[in-house]
Amino acid sequence: PRLSGSLHFVRRSASTQISNAAVNAIVSSAGSEGAFATRGSGPLAGVTVAVKDNICTKSLPTTCSSRILENFTSPFDATVVSLLSTGGAAIVGKANCDEFGMGSLNVHSVHGPVVNPVGLQDGVPVERRSAGGSSGGSAAAVAAGFCDAALGTDTGGSVRLPASYCGVVGLKPSYGIISRWGVVSFADSLDCVGVLAKDVSTVRRVHNAIAKYDERDPTAAPPHVRALASQLCMQRAAEITATDLKGLRIGVPRDYFPKELQPSVIESLQKTLDQLRARGATVVPVTLPSTPYALSAYYVISSAEASSNLARYDGVEYGLRVEPPPGANLNKTANVYAHSRTRGFGEEVKRRILLGTYALSADAFENYFLQAQRVRNLIKADFNRVFWAPNALKVDASTNATRTEGVDVIIHPSAIRTAPPLPDAQHGASAETGSLDAYVQDVMTVPASLAGLPALSVPAGSGSDAWPIGVSVVGQWGFDEMVLKVGEVIE
Ligand code: GLN
Repeated sequence: PRLSGSLHFVRRSASTQISNAAVNAIVSSAGSEGAFATRGSGPLAGVTVAVKDNICTKSLPTTCSSRILENFTSPFDATVVSLLSTGGAAIVGKANCDEFGMGSLNVHSVHGPVVNPVGLQDGVPVERRSAGGSSGGSAAAVAAGFCDAALGTDTGGSVRLPASYCGVVGLKPSYGIISRWGVVSFADSLDCVGVLAKDVSTVRRVHNAIAKYDERDPTAAPPHVRALASQLCMQRAAEITATDLKGLRIGVPRDYFPKELQPSVIESLQKTLDQLRARGATVVPVTLPSTPYALSAYYVISSAEASSNLARYDGVEYGLRVEPPPGANLNKTANVYAHSRTRGFGEEVKRRILLGTYALSADAFENYFLQAQRVRNLIKADFNRVFWAPNALKVDASTNATRTEGVDVIIHPSAIRTAPPLPDAQHGASAETGSLDAYVQDVMTVPASLAGLPALSVPAGSGSDAWPIGVSVVGQWGFDEMVLKVGEVIE
């Protein structure tokens, strides 16, 4: 995009101009130099990318949308940022998000909420709805045409949910495929860097350029495991063409139809499945019986890990430091710690720290944390039972279905509804944006996160309110190219 002014973007492919002021997607801009700084002939030459503000960049601040890091600039680039640059991409700016990635609606941000660009007419918001979270700025920047692609992070759905609400494509890759080095941790065992763009081919292009083994990331999948999965995936993917799916077996989980699901979401899914059947796919019902427990397990595990990760913001090493008021006579360090964190963290982050600290306490550990880990194993086993392909990580001993009975991919709605309205200034949180209702938005996306599987949300029509709906394609670990290929048929 051409940048006219530091935070003013011009939409490229449409006649209507959308300004960043109307959507609040970009929180720091690289200016025209950054936008045009494509470096020659790499695989991403000419591609403009926005980067979520919890991914470290040395030329722009990394705030994680938190007051505690409001003035923080990293001394180094994350591996993904270096790979984008060496690939020839131009980084246009940092994208708004929920604080430390915690949220589903991008309303918990020190920079203010992101407004979904779908509700704009002639550049003016006529209906203020959420862009989804936590990578809401990334999805909105793509939807508004500020960039060709955006990086987000997905811990429990934060790439797929905003992609669905904004009508763009969003990939959460297999866990461990893209380096997390330089990505600010929320919940290490779940965090993945993901890619958003308007079409699957751009997502693939960016994903292929950044999905490299990185020895600085201790959770990176080792090269031999990647090779194993990739060989199986590529063999099968090569058999499928866009016009002839050659008996591609698609599982539709019976357990993914909660009562909260809007009827138009089911209709969109049915249309998508009809379209795939017409091209030769076989659609079979499958059961993933542990699904009802996934959301609770996710919030226990992710909050526990977050409480530990966020302990590093102590007001001493870096980030906001708030001195105790005169007269406070307790231990000085403890006072700085308490005051800095009280002022620096938002409500949602504090809630997660409390929840996570409790789950890890001696009294609750067995009943909450360990129980959630057991559920996580059951969820992994559920998926492994329905895919014909073995899990290259071999993290549990469950057996796979046979090639003829098992499925290649699973398809389900990305979200239970279209984008919810943003809370208005007078009334605060609406029914849809209160904390518990926000947690329910993730009910479809957290199982693949707990199992570390690749999942792609692709636009699939619109609801009765004319807002976008997304469907998700989930594959076995390492089958990222398979979900992209099926996504390409759907889009
Ligand atoms: N909405 C979920 C949460 O609040 C997922 C967030 C994410 O994937 N980063 O934890």
